[in-house]
Amino acid sequence: MSRVYNFSAGPAVLPEEVLKEAQAEMLDYNGTGMSVMEMSHRSKAFDHIIREAEQDLRDLMHIPDNYKVLFLQGGASLQFAMIPMNLMKNRVADYIVTGQWAKKAYQEAQKYGKVNKIASSEDETFSYIPDCSDLDISPDADYVYICENNTIYGTKFKTLPNTKGKDLVADVSSCFLSEPVDVSKYAVIYGGVQKNIGPAGMVIAIVREDLITDDVLEGTPTMMKYKTHADADSLYNTPNCYCIYMCGKVFKWLKRMGGLEEMKRRNEEKAKILYDFLDASRLFRGTVRKEDRSLMNVPFVTGDKDLDAKFVKEAEAAGLVNLKGHRTVGGMRASIYNAMPKEGVEALVAFMKKFEEENL
Ligand SMILES: *Cc1c(COP(=O)(O)O)cnc(C)c1O
Repeated sequence: MSRVYNFSAGPAVLPEEVLKEAQAEMLDYNGTGMSVMEMSHRSKAFDHIIREAEQDLRDLMHIPDNYKVLFLQGGASLQFAMIPMNLMKNRVADYIVTGQWAKKAYQEAQKYGKVNKIASSEDETFSYIPDCSDLDISPDADYVYICENNTIYGTKFKTLPNTKGKDLVADVSSCFLSEPVDVSKYAVIYGGVQKNIGPAGMVIAIVREDLITDDVLEGTPTMMKYKTHADADSLYNTPNCYCIYMCGKVFKWLKRMGGLEEMKRRNEEKAKILYDFLDASRLFRGTVRKEDRSLMNVPFVTGDKDLDAKFVKEAEAAGLVNLKGHRTVGGMRASIYNAMPKEGVEALVAFMKKFEEENL
């Protein structure tokens, strides 16, 4: 067996310990004589798995009692529609567009009402977070929407926008559980789990209870009502059982590691190694405004496309894989999620140093 350092933006690296536990339980989960993949979602064993997963997530994030935790399918992308369908009572919403995912959400919402782009950083290829301290919030907006960590561009909101009392909805797909959050500042906080938590195929939505009602846009499918899933404890239909099981294991791993305060400390330490190198490098440079840099996704370039391609190829041969930047940005991107060990970042920086010496 030979594991690589996987810098993929998602699906992404998972903790090795968790993979080994899953491997050990593959044929016989906890004396049931079957794999979690084979068991009924109505079984006692699975009921225990999903309840424990929810409780562990609540513990990690200190989720207040007036928020529901929903394990949903359709990825983060289905939330782009579910959010307006469930929340757009006035059919007005304000969107802050800081990258492709925010833009997709903004475009999707336009199908359901009047959607205002109240800030954007598209003018500089989404390389920064706009000042959101005093935006022109629409008086009748049902919510203000952000993508908190921009996976493709490597920017992160370091302070939440001033929504002037309006509900805040945040896509946290690529920074989920990377640091402590104050859930009470959000109306909905959601993310696809394949970036920083588990396997692909599920999204976790944490929704304030007063927003979970039958008062949704006309024609909203049953499966797209938050209330359907909230009333059934995420078991209205067959959920992604195995993914819930894996996420539950990652929650336990995070608890063992010391929770989100400790993850933040580790993530800052890892990111600093890479950013310090980029800032001092004569060949590589980061592409994001310093104060807006993400701890999770680190894009960088040499300024020469051919050299970038050479770097990606040689890095891969050295066991540092998936470093190619998003197709819309080019260059490189290192995603250094919770499960990426510090040794992986150190190995990357050592390789970059060597490449710099050989190619300058
Ligand atoms: C990956 C990603 C998405 C899309 O997730 P899917 O699960 O593929 O729909 C949405 N938002 C952000 C911030 C992402 O990183």
